Amino acid sequence: MQDIQNGCYDVCTNCFTGGNCCSSFDRVNAPVLNKQELIQLREVLKSDKFYDVVDDNLYKIRLNNNECIFLKNGRCSIYNYRPLDCKLYPFDIIKKDSKYYLILYQLGCIEEYTVVDNFDCLDDLVDKIKPWIIDYTDDRNYTKMKRLKYKVIKEIKE
Ligand code: SF4
Ligand code: SF4
Repeated sequence: MQDIQNGCYDVCTNCFTGGNCCSSFDRVNAPVLNKQELIQLREVLKSDKFYDVVDDNLYKIRLNNNECIFLKNGRCSIYNYRPLDCKLYPFDIIKKDSKYYLILYQLGCIEEYTVVDNFDCLDDLVDKIKPWIIDYTDDRNYTKMKRLKYKVIKEIKE
């Protein structure tokens, strides 16, 4: 079901690129977990073994051989609790010249196949990220993504 506000895209079910994003972290950095998501997942999973900490202050979902540890039988096993970063992808937020922008990575999927003609429907998702925007736009999140081309959708006003 296409539910773009919640990060659900029909195209992902039958990804024509064969590039299931949850198992292709050789080209993309691991998803960010904000502190609220971290606490919630800890409670739900009764475990601490699902994330890695970068330099003591950046929380990322743990990967195994470039695959998300939550990917089970081709599906997200924490779908209802998946992080905002997962919901937003292949859109992302970047910081450039002290401004924030919503971007779309040029993977050749969403842009061509979605029926929406503007992306204002992502505003709610972006609003939820705003309190953590410094973490999300930290340079350490883009070491791999820097290789991807992207299209700027619009500036994000704080
Ligand atoms: S976001 Fe695009 S490339 Fe990634 S799984 Fe979905 S359709 Fe495939
Ligand atoms: S948490 Fe779920 S949606 Fe996010 S990368 Fe892992 S399997 Fe994919």
